[in-house]
Amino acid sequence: MIFENNLAFAQNMDQQDPMRHLRDEFFFPQQNGAPFIYLCGNSLGLQPKTAKKYIDQQLNNWQNLAVEGWFEGDTPWMFYHKALKDLMAPIVGANSQEVSPMNTLTVNLHLLMVSFYKPKAQRFKIIMEAGAFPSDQYAIESQVRFHGYDPESAIIEVKPRAGEYTLRTADILATIADHGDEIALVLFGGINYFTGQWYDMPAITKAGHEAGAIVGFDLAHAAGNVPLQLHDWEVDFACWCSYKYQNSGPGGISGIFVHEKHFKDSSLNRFAGWWGYQEQQRFKMEKGFIPEAGADGWQVSCTQVIPMSLYYASLQIFEKAGFISPLRKKSKKLTAYLSYIIKEINKELGEEQYQIITPETEMDRGAQLSIIAKHKPKEIFKSLMDNNILGDWREPNVIRLSPVPLYNSFEDIFTAGLILLKVSKELI
Ligand SMILES: *Cc1c(COP(=O)(O)O)cnc(C)c1O
Repeated sequence: MIFENNLAFAQNMDQQDPMRHLRDEFFFPQQNGAPFIYLCGNSLGLQPKTAKKYIDQQLNNWQNLAVEGWFEGDTPWMFYHKALKDLMAPIVGANSQEVSPMNTLTVNLHLLMVSFYKPKAQRFKIIMEAGAFPSDQYAIESQVRFHGYDPESAIIEVKPRAGEYTLRTADILATIADHGDEIALVLFGGINYFTGQWYDMPAITKAGHEAGAIVGFDLAHAAGNVPLQLHDWEVDFACWCSYKYQNSGPGGISGIFVHEKHFKDSSLNRFAGWWGYQEQQRFKMEKGFIPEAGADGWQVSCTQVIPMSLYYASLQIFEKAGFISPLRKKSKKLTAYLSYIIKEINKELGEEQYQIITPETEMDRGAQLSIIAKHKPKEIFKSLMDNNILGDWREPNVIRLSPVPLYNSFEDIFTAGLILLKVSKELI
């Protein structure tokens, strides 16, 4: 696609965008009486305008029905998660039995590792990406220690080559092959939070399985962003938060995926709770845990109705959009346009002031671009904020910008580029 660095071009792209009206479904934060250009959906998605309505519905049910709300009213809480499952499934490429909303992300990562990290005599290692999100590093380290192993020897990190920022698929696959029968678990991000690199998930899954390992993914930056086919790729398990690309609000509910091939495996450990017990028999309150079939069998505590209602509000917008594939079509163009605009700014400045470390190829990235600012990175980031451009800052010098197809426009990108050029000229 040939891009142009002018307002008329950006506006024309917006005119042709069948998703452009979805922007009206969200609230944009304001500063000095004007909305921000919000490029931070990788960190916290915007609030759907319907969010309050969905919370109010449940507050009303609680007000009017109190405990009866579990079985009565327009959305009995006992079954509330089921409506979400049908909408979560197409976002990650699963059947609805394979997904369930529950808890928060790091908690679910632990619960799923309890089931799927099963170290044995010589097969006890975990392969992961170097520079994973810290919560994942801590969770994995502590799980390894919990089983009595030393993280130094039990965790193998795949690192970028010297002078590179992102991983080569060949290096990931070679590391898996090299450690072969020592590997209990391959646990990767879908998209790395820092670099924005989308890993080759099907290839990693296949290589992990060939080595005889279980393969899981943390999809915090991938779910709701890029097309996923967890079922067909035969991924063993995955989890994600819903507050980034899926707009469910701060601390929003997490989702889990467990492939149906594991449903009948009674050898899997679980940290069980009553809400994972067979739904039909749950209130018999009997001794001896028997899990509900499917991902719901991993539930521990009773349904978190309010956070789920927020996720539900947002999932309805995804449904309206036609789920991921039309959004991804727009997302590829938006992110490519941002990449083009950044390079135009470098040309104008006469040097590579902004180095995009996210891979250039579409298949290796989602919405986000991670950009190293060579001179005055922090000052530039602050000045963008002062000028109503909201991105996100990562030490020591990286600005992450994520155009989100649900609510960003080509004009947003063009205008953000104009301002970035202006503040760069002022500051360097
Ligand atoms: C955002 C993010 C988290 C956050 O975990 P919470 O438990 O929701 O606080 C964890 N892992 C990754 C990879 C993330 O991107």
